[in-house]
Amino acid sequence: MNRTILITGASGQDGYYLINLLRQQECVVHAQSRRAVHPNSHLDGLHWHVGDPADQDFLEALISGIMPDEIYNLASISRPSQSWMEPRKTGEVNGFVPQEICELLLRYKPECRLFQASSSEMFGSDVASAQNEQTRCAPNTPYGVAKLYAHQIIGAYRAQYGLHASTGILFNHESPRRPLAFVSQKIAYAAAAISLGLSETAELDERGRPILSGGKIALGDLSVRRDFGFAGDYVEAMQRIVRHSTPDDYVIGTGQDHSIEDFCNQAFGFVGRKWTDHVVIDPVLVRKVDSRYTRADTAKIRSVLKWKPTIDFPALVSMMVTDQVAAIRNNVSPEFMSDSDY
Ligand code: NDP
Repeated sequence: MNRTILITGASGQDGYYLINLLRQQECVVHAQSRRAVHPNSHLDGLHWHVGDPADQDFLEALISGIMPDEIYNLASISRPSQSWMEPRKTGEVNGFVPQEICELLLRYKPECRLFQASSSEMFGSDVASAQNEQTRCAPNTPYGVAKLYAHQIIGAYRAQYGLHASTGILFNHESPRRPLAFVSQKIAYAAAAISLGLSETAELDERGRPILSGGKIALGDLSVRRDFGFAGDYVEAMQRIVRHSTPDDYVIGTGQDHSIEDFCNQAFGFVGRKWTDHVVIDPVLVRKVDSRYTRADTAKIRSVLKWKPTIDFPALVSMMVTDQVAAIRNNVSPEFMSDSDY
């Protein structure tokens, strides 16, 4: 069946993997980005639409023009720390745009299926055990609050109007396409740079200093634990959710958790180094408000959709370090690597 698909926020990490998945199928793929030039703009066989999903006229023209069979709403201010700098915009993009998409579907194509990227950040910081679809949400960042609004409004539109609108409560997922602003990619980049004999790097961290300086990377709280998975696996889960007969909410994660220290150990160990020789703690980088622990209880998606992750933690970290080595060697910004660079 030739489906017409719209991906918002298609220039990001998940957009990259989702586009690659859909290109193997008989689909017409429309991809939205605010930028004409971005890491995924070289991917061919796509219809790119440049505009802002928070612009109501643009969004209406996009949906009414394409009349998609499926929408994957990935567009988002995606870093909780950034959401503190742009709280209003975060509410608009992460919270109200998904609602607007529902409204437009009612008007133009009620049978279209919708996937909304919800987040484990909705649970907040005070969680003791593994989190599932029933876990109480108590978000403590503008990012988490806006994602929760979208999550619940999608459920409301589903119940009120019978839309095939689903959410995936996504736990951390990484890949070579993860932007350098995220701690996982910073660590992978630093380990790769060390393995190439560098002690100072061009790429800067959030303090405006080189990510690797004097052979050391500065990090915040190493004890924070996260459920880290591979983005390629998670877009497969998104698609299973959309293609299932009944719309619903699903936790997407691995069911394993690892600390930031574990990540350092794995990344530096992969290049034959001890992380303790290359990591320093900068209290400035310790977040005042943070989820200290996330671990997904994936029983539902495993049993209903038969989905499970294929890449484990060591394989994920070594993949990221390997690709950062190639990026540094080729002098390409990691986000702008093409498949042939790997
Ligand atoms: P990315 O940050 O890689 O991509 C998100 C995209 O959203 C960007 O490419 C950007 O596209 C667009 N975007 C960013 N800011 C804005 C804005 N102000 N207005 C409109 N669009 C904007 O995220 P991922 O691909 O990793 O994540 C996909 C989705 O999954 C996001 O909604 C994210 O919140 C959610 N999620 C991700 C997790 C993860 O660990 N990766 C965990 C939990 C949820 P452009 O600048 O080209 O317009």
